Amino acid sequence: MMAAIDGLPPLRDVISRHGLDARKALGQNFLLDLNLTQKIARTAGPLDGVTVIEVGPGPGGLTRAILSLGAKKVIAIERDSRCLPALAEISDHYPGRLDVIEGDALKVDFETLVTDGSSVRIISNLPYNVGTQLLLNWLLVKSWPPFYQSLTLMFQREVGLRIVAQEDDDHYGRLGVLCGWRTNARMAFDVPPQAFTPPPKVTSSVVHLEPNENPIPCRTEALERVTHAAFGQRRKMLRQSVKSLGGEALLAKADIDPQRRAETLSVEEFCRLANCL
Ligand code: SAM
Repeated sequence: MMAAIDGLPPLRDVISRHGLDARKALGQNFLLDLNLTQKIARTAGPLDGVTVIEVGPGPGGLTRAILSLGAKKVIAIERDSRCLPALAEISDHYPGRLDVIEGDALKVDFETLVTDGSSVRIISNLPYNVGTQLLLNWLLVKSWPPFYQSLTLMFQREVGLRIVAQEDDDHYGRLGVLCGWRTNARMAFDVPPQAFTPPPKVTSSVVHLEPNENPIPCRTEALERVTHAAFGQRRKMLRQSVKSLGGEALLAKADIDPQRRAETLSVEEFCRLANCL
């Protein structure tokens, strides 16, 4: 068996040795190509001195790339205990640089994970079933600018398009408004199904988001209410879709034409609407 570029065994071998047959319920689609995992890790920017938080390391393909590119430390949260022995081998290879937390990432308090003052980047090939919720949690953290410098995340392409969408785009909705309000989000590259084991049904995309240091002042809860109402009936005119929030009177106060539809409003206009609630 030939070692991979980082001196550790090839991932295919790691998976068979530890019996890591992929489980659909855990969103397990593994990346075995270390060139691809390095490309994802590089999208996050220079990693020297950086602490990386990774959700769902699985057998560790992306974890290995992040460590080989010089991250000071990786804190990885994995729900599947079967992966822990494989991750322990990586930890032995990079002493003191990989901490694994076994558990559900939705229950982790991310804001208090890193205590040494180092800069934090989040990099993850997210499990598709909890990916959007995790992104929303990171976007809507109370203290802003947030605890992280960037988010580099793999999603199904459809979700990636919603994250980077702007007004007048078919994919523009609540997620696009929240991402556009608090971050600068860009599509980095697509990853075809056959790059994964097992291959998912659809193409995936890596998106990179950097926090906007000075987002338009706006209460999160109000912005969520207006986007929820407006996009709940996205084909209707705003005077109808935001009726329960004040309808024409609210729109007049925000100086927005009641005949417009949700998908034509910029992030700035949504914030104005939220601030008039
Ligand atoms: N990082 C690996 C890679 O790129 O090959 C695996 C990515 S796989 C798409 C998603 C990983 O997230 C799996 O290892 C799965 O066990 C883990 N996972 C699923 N739900 C999770 C949760 N709620 N919290 C933490 N990890 C979770």
